[in-house]
Amino acid sequence: MTIDLRSDTVTKPSKGMLKVMLSAEVGDDVFREDTTVNELETVVAKMFGKETALFFPSGTMANQTAIKLHTQPGDQVICDKYAHIYNYESGGVAFNSGVSCNLIDGERGMFTAEQIKQAINPNAYYYSKTSLVEIENTTNKGGGACWDFNEILKIKQVCNENNLGIHLDGARLWNALVVKNETAQQYGQVFDTISVCFSKGLGCPVGSVLIGDHEIMKDAIRTRKVFGGNMRQAGYLAAAALYALENNIGRLTEDHQKAKEIGEMLSTLSVVKHVEPIETNIVIFELSPDVDEEQFTQKLKENNILIIGMGGGKLRMVTHLDYTDAMHEKVLDFIKTF
Ligand SMILES: *Cc1c(COP(=O)(O)O)cnc(C)c1O
Repeated sequence: MTIDLRSDTVTKPSKGMLKVMLSAEVGDDVFREDTTVNELETVVAKMFGKETALFFPSGTMANQTAIKLHTQPGDQVICDKYAHIYNYESGGVAFNSGVSCNLIDGERGMFTAEQIKQAINPNAYYYSKTSLVEIENTTNKGGGACWDFNEILKIKQVCNENNLGIHLDGARLWNALVVKNETAQQYGQVFDTISVCFSKGLGCPVGSVLIGDHEIMKDAIRTRKVFGGNMRQAGYLAAAALYALENNIGRLTEDHQKAKEIGEMLSTLSVVKHVEPIETNIVIFELSPDVDEEQFTQKLKENNILIIGMGGGKLRMVTHLDYTDAMHEKVLDFIKTF
């Protein structure tokens, strides 16, 4: 039995999910005739209180489309130095939209309205035009940290005053909603566009959705096509997402609990120097300087426990719906021996 804690993307569709996938009603989504895709888009748009939504094959493509919709070549996007759009989307902001990023030196992937004010370029022709602020919740590289919604409201205020768009990379927004007892609606009221992911904590094989009102979203489908993201009978995938919305959000608390327990165990070990605060399902920790990272992960691997390095001496473990109670017990028992 391999215990894979590298990411919450390693889950496989459950029997229940597969069942609804196999019985999904589908059609050609390029003709917009896939009733299950249409249903998912309607459900998600409504959930966030927005006018429309569009299904994507990946979170990367949903984010990249959003950036394209908000910017013109030469513009600048404000985001945290840890942002997924900057670090892990293959330079897509430059490749796809011809924009640069003004990186904020935030805390665990989060920043303040004050920091945004400082980062907006003056309105002179020789500066690049600041046109978009991007926020990630929960933060991936920041260890699953959740934003303070009050700070988001302050940032929205700054965006309004400076005529800036605001996009949320909500790949793991579900985790934040559960932990902070927040609603999709309240995020819908603040952000112009929101991407959410179904293949992270929610256990789907594929799928993300970009949400927004008609005005900003009017070219989203064209951009998705340009990026090669049009799909045909995608209803099989949309059915999985609908199933996940029904069945797999509330249970995220179990992943969070397990992550906390792993973190607590790690922090008792002499080989571990530091464990970052654990708010959701991501555990990021650093080994003591005298411990070899390679050896540490190898030893776990020999015991069928897979984790991942984040660079800079940081290691990551992510809990998810295929990480069972039995696996959890085994992991805690094994970690204890270090
Ligand atoms: C995984 C992730 C994405 C991208 O999702 P893919 O479906 O892998 O392209 C975007 N943002 C964040 C914060 C993520 O963790």
